Amino acid sequence: MSSTEILNPATGETITQVEQTPLEDVDAAIARAKRAFESWRAVDPADRARLLRRFADAVEADIPHLADLEVRSAGHTIGNATWEAGNVRDVLTYYAGGIERQSGRQIPVPGGVNITFHEPLGVVGVIVPWNFPMPIAGWGFAPALAAGNTVVLKPAEVTPLTALRLGELALEAGLPEGVFTVLPGKGSVVGDRFVTHPDVRKVVFTGSTEVGKRIMAGCSEQVKRLTLELGGKNSNIVFGDADLEAAAAAAPGGAFDNAGQDCCSRARLLVESSAMDRFLELLEPAVKAFACKDPSSADAEMGPLITAAHRDKVAGYVDGASVLFQGAAPSGSGFWFPPTVLDSREGTADFDEEIFGPVISVVPFEDEADAIRIANSTEYGLSGSLWTRDVGRALRVSRAVEAGNLSVNSHASVRYWTPFGGFKQSGYGRELGPDAPDAFTETKNVFISSE
Ligand code: NAD
Repeated sequence: MSSTEILNPATGETITQVEQTPLEDVDAAIARAKRAFESWRAVDPADRARLLRRFADAVEADIPHLADLEVRSAGHTIGNATWEAGNVRDVLTYYAGGIERQSGRQIPVPGGVNITFHEPLGVVGVIVPWNFPMPIAGWGFAPALAAGNTVVLKPAEVTPLTALRLGELALEAGLPEGVFTVLPGKGSVVGDRFVTHPDVRKVVFTGSTEVGKRIMAGCSEQVKRLTLELGGKNSNIVFGDADLEAAAAAAPGGAFDNAGQDCCSRARLLVESSAMDRFLELLEPAVKAFACKDPSSADAEMGPLITAAHRDKVAGYVDGASVLFQGAAPSGSGFWFPPTVLDSREGTADFDEEIFGPVISVVPFEDEADAIRIANSTEYGLSGSLWTRDVGRALRVSRAVEAGNLSVNSHASVRYWTPFGGFKQSGYGRELGPDAPDAFTETKNVFISSE
């Protein structure tokens, strides 16, 4: 059996080895999940809700441990990692609260009664990337389990530790064997098997657009249900009438959180020409003050990048580009890269491609129509922000930008009780929010004759 070396990105040191699940074990786990489905779907709704709340309680009790694992194996700051573990707890609690309310409809028809049921799908395969290992796992497994499905979950090769711990916590909380199974391993083996195995009835994939397209094509063979959460190249649009101090203070956090390894990172900074000089004057000290340091420090705002190869890729976008200013990062071992702001242009690689690192590309715009045109000049459409004091403009631009999650005078775009997902090549379907369990059921219509 081959294994993956798990490194601490802040130091480059090996933490542990994790065995990759071979194909025959993936098939055995899917078979167990299929058997477990028959009893899980039949669990009394109140009992299923109680079990998921117990799972949430077990996560709550383990937050310091889960957060420490994520700091050491993914380089997340301790503040972020603690929030992320809490997010898993909250998502479980939120969807546990909907189980007894998952009612169908009674629709008037002649000659009898017509009712609808939300039938669970069966085994759901969740494929998770390395950038937010805990929340992205929870956004898939919590509503899937709540709706009566069983789940097999594949974490990313380099960040399996928190997912494996969540699998243990589920069993400790009393979820029956086979209801939630974590299978570390390769995308081309474990992830691909979720796509090809006929007993996996839905795939939830979060990751790159490139792999997502292949998964979509693979799922078409069995008309397999699919949710995709893919890449992003998101704009932060600053109008001249905005509170420039507030916009400049918030811009680094909107782009550099999680070292920019965030599909929602506002990496395109579009600034109205008339306000550009003043805005950059305000932005420079905010970028230089952004605390890129040992992620276990309580005041760290950003840690290292995930791997040496990823750091080299990010550096490749900055080499030869025009750097406006840079913050500081630790030197020496570990995969560090400083917060960086580029003087960019439309059509350049740094402006068009998802860098997935702490790099902002600044481009000026002339007016509202120009800002919308530039923001939409991408195949992605995940998120974005706009800063203005004009309410009409805030509404017009929010409606015109082709993205699933927009924020006005803020960069907040993820809350577990509001829907999340992408337009265009950023995704397919929505996660989170009140309707997420519906994406894990089929609507069945039943007519009962009264004749
Ligand atoms: P990736 O596409 O390389 O891998 C994602 C997951 O897919 C991993 O678990 C990987 O092992 C697996 N995988 C790889 N090849 C596969 C295959 N052939 N079949 C099945 N599974 C396979 O992405 P990554 O580098 O881990 O993550 C970064 C990407 O994720 C970025 O593009 C980012 O924007 C995106 N992302 C999107 C969202 C969102 O919600 N839209 C959230 C986070 C990350």
